[in-house]
Amino acid sequence: MSVPSKNRRRNLSVQTVTSISRAIALKHDPPVELVGVVPSEGASDRAEIVVRISGCHAEPCRLVLNVSRGLTAEEFSSQLESQLRDAIATHTSTHG
Ligand SMILES: [Zn+2]
Repeated sequence: MSVPSKNRRRNLSVQTVTSISRAIALKHDPPVELVGVVPSEGASDRAEIVVRISGCHAEPCRLVLNVSRGLTAEEFSSQLESQLRDAIATHTSTHG
């Protein structure tokens, strides 16, 4: 009865977003540090995930990923993974 429906578009909580983001950050190589998660201002269905990449050429490194929260946990983590991959490519490029 309490199993969440996959068809229901309910925003993921900031807490859920934080734990998914942390799990993704932890398994990443190069290491990614999760700085924080905040709901986007003026867009209640989105969240900003702030991370820092170890070994980034930019000092201080601060990366903000903007991901929709109106997704399933699986969709959210694949969105975040792909954004993170792009961001890491940008941030670790020597052509700054
Ligand atoms: Zn960086």
